[in-house]
Amino acid sequence: MFARNNKVPRSCSRTRTVDASSHTPFVDPAADLPDCISLDPLNEDSLLANLLSRFKRDHIYTYIGNILLSINPYKPLAQYTEQAIADYKLRTVAISQLPPHVFAVADHAWRSLRDFYSDQVIVITGESGSGKTEASKLILQYLGFATGKSNELETVRQQLLLCNPVLEAFGNAKSIHNDNSSRFGKYIELEFDYRGEPVGGLITHYLLEKSRVTTQHHGERNFHIFFQLLAGADVQLLKSLKLQRNTDNYLYLRNNHSNPSVWHQSDKEEFLNTKKALETVGFSAEDIVNIFRIVAAVLKLGNLIFTPVSNIDGTEGCSINNEYELEEVATLLMISIDELRSALLYRTYSVSCSGMDPHGMGGVSGGNCFSRDSTLPSANSRTYIGNNHQQHQQMLLQQQRTSLLSTSASMVGASMVGRDMYQMMDGCHGSEVGLQVALGSRVYQDAKDDFVMTDLSAAEATTGRDALCKALYYRLFTWIINSINDRIKVKQHGKRRILSILDIYGFENLPTNGFEQLIINYCNEKLQHFVTEIIVKEEQEVYMQEGLEWSPILFPDNVAVCDLIEKHNLGLLAIMDEECQRPCNGSEDAFLNKVGQVFQDNTQVEVAWGLPSKSSDSTTVNAFRLKHYAGWVTYSVNGFLEKNSDLLVRGLSQSMYQCSHPIVKELFPEGNPRRTTLRRPATSGTQFKVAIIALMRSLRSKNPHFVRCIKPNAFKQPHHFDVQTIQNQLRYLGLLESTQVKRNGYAFRQPYAWFLQRYKMLSTVTWPHWGGVAIEGVARLLRDLPISATEYAFGRRMLFIKNDSTLMQLEDFRRIR
Ligand code: ATP
Ligand code: MG
Repeated sequence: MFARNNKVPRSCSRTRTVDASSHTPFVDPAADLPDCISLDPLNEDSLLANLLSRFKRDHIYTYIGNILLSINPYKPLAQYTEQAIADYKLRTVAISQLPPHVFAVADHAWRSLRDFYSDQVIVITGESGSGKTEASKLILQYLGFATGKSNELETVRQQLLLCNPVLEAFGNAKSIHNDNSSRFGKYIELEFDYRGEPVGGLITHYLLEKSRVTTQHHGERNFHIFFQLLAGADVQLLKSLKLQRNTDNYLYLRNNHSNPSVWHQSDKEEFLNTKKALETVGFSAEDIVNIFRIVAAVLKLGNLIFTPVSNIDGTEGCSINNEYELEEVATLLMISIDELRSALLYRTYSVSCSGMDPHGMGGVSGGNCFSRDSTLPSANSRTYIGNNHQQHQQMLLQQQRTSLLSTSASMVGASMVGRDMYQMMDGCHGSEVGLQVALGSRVYQDAKDDFVMTDLSAAEATTGRDALCKALYYRLFTWIINSINDRIKVKQHGKRRILSILDIYGFENLPTNGFEQLIINYCNEKLQHFVTEIIVKEEQEVYMQEGLEWSPILFPDNVAVCDLIEKHNLGLLAIMDEECQRPCNGSEDAFLNKVGQVFQDNTQVEVAWGLPSKSSDSTTVNAFRLKHYAGWVTYSVNGFLEKNSDLLVRGLSQSMYQCSHPIVKELFPEGNPRRTTLRRPATSGTQFKVAIIALMRSLRSKNPHFVRCIKPNAFKQPHHFDVQTIQNQLRYLGLLESTQVKRNGYAFRQPYAWFLQRYKMLSTVTWPHWGGVAIEGVARLLRDLPISATEYAFGRRMLFIKNDSTLMQLEDFRRIR
């Protein structure tokens, strides 16, 4: 008997909660069907009752036809043994006799790849904490054990299995919904040869939530690797990395609101696993130390404290309080301390004859490195001038600049040349806004290289430091994945088939949601659309086209909200981009205003000004609310534009390029002063949209298998089946509708000629050759087999088979012959 855990907040007592070990009134105790399509009657209550009844027996998996439902047990289960893998692999009993299992899905996908020699994809969906990543690991585990064990493939198999702990250490973190939450999307494509043996793979990742490096929500932690390193590194390694074991010594690990930062015993063990996994995947001891040097440098950079300094001429700059930390960072990154200090405290502008860099930015996104135009077009360039007044201002500035430079041209080294007009242009293209904000900064000019430097305020330097840490970490993450890909890529020639596994970050609705949540939820929205299109819409269309008897089933459609986010020109992402392209990066208020205007008649968007902030009592936030497939989410627009622009000050990328650290230098190619200028980089939102559209294309090109993960409660508790939480998920996932379609529909369909060709050896009538019309040959063939006539139906061009188990049976017959 399991009592409800004391930790469950009292508020949950308002919901319909079921202690999974006790009897509940709405449950038919007899119901425990492995496949919901057999439920009679079929309705929401019977669906829930069946799931509860199974959950009580630790039967966390249930089929809806060929879809697997998985309810997170929040406790270890004894059903993932090698024996279990062998049961599904060897099939000493018929597959239909084996209980529903994620191994069965893995096995089915793999057999389909091998037997039908077609690409497969397993799409795992569910909200944050529902069990997607665990499912993806179990699938990999199954494929690792179940496929052949030849020596030549052993390395590939080990690498494929062990890349996961590496990805999790660097890409997962404790969130309020999940102690091991994926903070990036992961699409693993495993390649198999004609025998169904793994020969390599490719990992694609989607937008890591890099803001977590510098700030975390209440009750959350930074990425695991920081804690693992401090807890698990031996004294010698710690010393060489200039680290101390206590997490409290690092600002980025000290969550302001709570104290989840104390490392757990598991961090220590996990560190050893991560290190072992890095070695097995093929990183050298030197690579591993270099990776940890970057992790350590991020932690120590985060500790730098900038103090405001008033210059003699009244302008404001800043200095670094804890120079010893800076010195250690410089040692870790292998760069001169002066170079690093200067990149952190000053902004540098090129003032070569063609003009100067208004932003001094280089973009950072998608793991690729970009650079903005390095120089501002000359003052009379039309690119930056919107009207005559501005043109006049711009020319004035250009003249002042030219005369200033000529008077100071003889100066050598960095010297002060007076109150600055360059700052007027800083980030604002010499506009009026620039004029207003710019006064009060010193300028240094180097006559030799034609650049000027301006002081940064303490706040600006802190922002720059955080941007650098985020860029360093994100680019390291991308570098690790690219290196893994190099190691696991297929080395032999020959035809290949792909089995992909998609495990993305789950839908999130936090007390405060920002840009990252919009991106995560947009991705989930697209996937939900994909799943309903395939499972419900397209399937019904085929039945009708093929002339099968069919009563249409309505389903919740989320195409409108996908459109609302991604629509060309008028979607949320496009509006954000438009604002980011404005001088001075636009403003969040202007963005919200435009959202209000564009969507004023849309009932799925609401704009709210001055909402009380959830994180502090006195402040307010401006926000918009979106009606997602999984419910309303409020997004605070604070930081939206900066995260979307995702730019790094050029001085910082140039200093990183100067590092002798072998990896860091590689991470910032745009810092190379000789590099020619590139186009302005796409924003984060747009890059993500492009990647998601490509992902959808890839999913559509493969035969899909679905695992739909359900979260039983919001408290990460075992034995706690919260009816309302589950009912909500069943509704928004459209699972009742899916069950209805699957119950009346068919799991498999193929043209008659294909079917005949594949199974003709199962009957003497069709073997070795059937001379008549294909549909008649199929009818004769099926008549000779011990398969019930209710298991198939004849369409206009195709044969439909009701259950996957029947197809498996046919494959088994074929193998025995
Ligand atoms: P996110 O979207 O935040 O990444 P997720 O859906 O990937 O969430 P998981 O990390 O897979 O969620 O699962 C959350 C936790 O639930 C796991 O760390 C584990 O403790 C538990 N869990 C999930 N599935 C299982 C399972 N099959 N058996 C035992 N425990 C499980
Ligand atoms: Mg996950």
